[in-house]
Amino acid sequence: MNLTPACCSVHTHTVLCDGKGTLREMADAAARAGVRYFGISCHSHTPLALDAGYVLPADMTAYRRAVLALRQEYAGRMEVLLGLEWDSQSDVSPEGFDYWIGSVHYQKRENGRCYAADWGEEAFAACRDEACGGDPLAVAEGYFREVARVAGKKPDILGHMDLITKLNGGNRFFDESAPRYRKAALEALHAADPQATVLEINTGGMARGYRNVPYPALFLLREWREMGGRVILTSDSHSPDTILYAYDRAADLAKAAGFDRTCLLTRGGFVDCPL
Ligand SMILES: [Zn+2]
Ligand SMILES: [Zn+2]
Repeated sequence: MNLTPACCSVHTHTVLCDGKGTLREMADAAARAGVRYFGISCHSHTPLALDAGYVLPADMTAYRRAVLALRQEYAGRMEVLLGLEWDSQSDVSPEGFDYWIGSVHYQKRENGRCYAADWGEEAFAACRDEACGGDPLAVAEGYFREVARVAGKKPDILGHMDLITKLNGGNRFFDESAPRYRKAALEALHAADPQATVLEINTGGMARGYRNVPYPALFLLREWREMGGRVILTSDSHSPDTILYAYDRAADLAKAAGFDRTCLLTRGGFVDCPL
């Protein structure tokens, strides 16, 4: 059987964190969509009050068991992978999973507060005004410092590396072509090891109506290709109807950056797949 990028969807969430589908509903939808390598990557626990109810409990035993039971159920039809989207504020280890996605959703600032990158304009404005002296680019720089820290831990996949742009359509909050912005983003990318980590092209913000392009920006993908890095297409799906959302757009972006292939994640590791 020919492999295509749509054979693989490994950045997905369920009702066990902040998703809308059960494990089985998500797996059924993936199988119906023709996915052969399906990974579940619920959000890891953090001690943040903001995260209560949106992340896994610190004890992930039940989560592991449930995903491994699903693996048995789908054996021979679809590989089910046990993953974790590990947040930079997490207080649990990402070890012991088939794979982990390293992601930054918050930045902790000198005033001791954590500010969400993707929770809306108010969180952005609060970070800018309370922690950054009104300088919006300093918010982005703080975000990318966190991304660099996560990238240095060599995750299997580096998640939505410029999530800080989620609400920045039309450069509303800051100029994404500003040298300071580009420098901070590129430094975060350079902290990633292209031999150890695959960069995701993530359509999750599109599925939820926040953006009309995937993460990350073209200049980052071009640089990653220059670095010899590999990419994987993901939907960051939070519901059964978005398991492969806008993969065609993600593939177009990869090609625009000069990639002629992507990766699929299987239980045997990453395998190349032509675009
Ligand atoms: Zn995420
Ligand atoms: Zn996610």
